[in-house]
Amino acid sequence: MVASIHQPHSRSSAAKNSTAAAHSPIDTSAAHSPVDTVGNTVSVPPPAGGRPDRASRPAADGTRSATHADARPPAGRYQFLSPLLTTAPTISSPNDIRVTNVTAIFNLLFPSGALSRAQISRRIGLSRVSVSQAVAEMIDRHLVVESGQEELSRPGKRGMLVRLDLSYWRIVSIDLSSDLVMRGAVLDIAGHIVLRSEQAVADPTSITPQTVIDMCDSLIGRADGHILGIGVAVPGIIDENRIVVNSSHLGWTDLPLGDQLADRFGCPCFVDNDANSALLAVRLFDDKTPNMIFVQITRGIGAAVLIDDRIVLGAGHAAGEIGHVIVDPDGPVCACGKRGCLETFISTGRLRADIAGSPDRRGEILRTAGQRLGRVLACSASLLDIDDITVFGPTDVVGPSFIAGANEAINASSASRLLARPIRVRRCEIGDDITLLGEAISVLQNALQRK
Ligand SMILES: [Zn+2]
Repeated sequence: MVASIHQPHSRSSAAKNSTAAAHSPIDTSAAHSPVDTVGNTVSVPPPAGGRPDRASRPAADGTRSATHADARPPAGRYQFLSPLLTTAPTISSPNDIRVTNVTAIFNLLFPSGALSRAQISRRIGLSRVSVSQAVAEMIDRHLVVESGQEELSRPGKRGMLVRLDLSYWRIVSIDLSSDLVMRGAVLDIAGHIVLRSEQAVADPTSITPQTVIDMCDSLIGRADGHILGIGVAVPGIIDENRIVVNSSHLGWTDLPLGDQLADRFGCPCFVDNDANSALLAVRLFDDKTPNMIFVQITRGIGAAVLIDDRIVLGAGHAAGEIGHVIVDPDGPVCACGKRGCLETFISTGRLRADIAGSPDRRGEILRTAGQRLGRVLACSASLLDIDDITVFGPTDVVGPSFIAGANEAINASSASRLLARPIRVRRCEIGDDITLLGEAISVLQNALQRK
């Protein structure tokens, strides 16, 4: 989430959350470990990770079609942004078991795995019957296809391999977090970007819901598959009804963007905070840790928090809002009206200006900035027992000096003889597509959890 409450051009304005717009209810009590038909929860292996490449996909067969007419969610029935891998707890209905098993198999095959039903059964500990049922459903839903036969080292009947069906579904993802450009893309269900659209933005406040709808229209018109859903990542606070409560970056207040998109396109539509979207990409493509803090440093400072594989939204959907925490009461006046907010010290604009004024002190300036961030995060990391912090930002700012400063300060603040485990702060290596990727994952995970 992000920060910047009254800062017109801050890239992040806070927010955390997301909203699901699917038309089908998603039960928040759904379990996330695969479950066999007698209800035993089993462990889920990690997905065959790796970042998606950007290869184009072959043309799909079909006409695109918007699925589902009513995309409006009943309040309180949705599971917001949480990664595909979860370890949750209870099984409350046969539908939950079905969703859990489908999700587990999807994770196992994501993004490019090819396994037989017998191999899937062994890998995730589900019975052959449960796997066959789940795979049959996934074939019906065009999530997987049979493709080729397994290699056997011993004599026996070779099983058909199952892999993700990359040609049927397309996901439309829009990223509104940049100061300079509005980004859109169409992705397949493995996170490959099939096609892109970029539109220069003179002023982010010139972006309107119609601008977003027009870009979606253009992308859908060029897409070669069926539309699984649309996701829009917004720097701002988004509530559970897909309303943009506040985005100072875009100048939006109480804007029902989710409903506007659903009314126009009739397919599942989602609106998520940009830092939460980015965190999903980190979780799936760059990290394997179910507990972490993600920080993005741009014109504003935003963060997102993952606890036990659940994104923390907070009481007001604004968890992660750290940009306006005061780090020096005598510091510079902030756009929010206070003095000495974190954002006034470590935003990209401030650091670049400082470096331009004293180029020979570049390393020291960035190290000091990293230390400020480290000290601010030390309390949160200790409170939540998080030892993995990923920082995303431009390379001229979030480089070795910045990261070294952050590591020094956070460990100096939190480590002791009683708690020796170090906290690792590292640079996020996913590039500019991070938010597009994460928002597509948000659409995908909600589709998987549809019943
Ligand atoms: Zn402030």
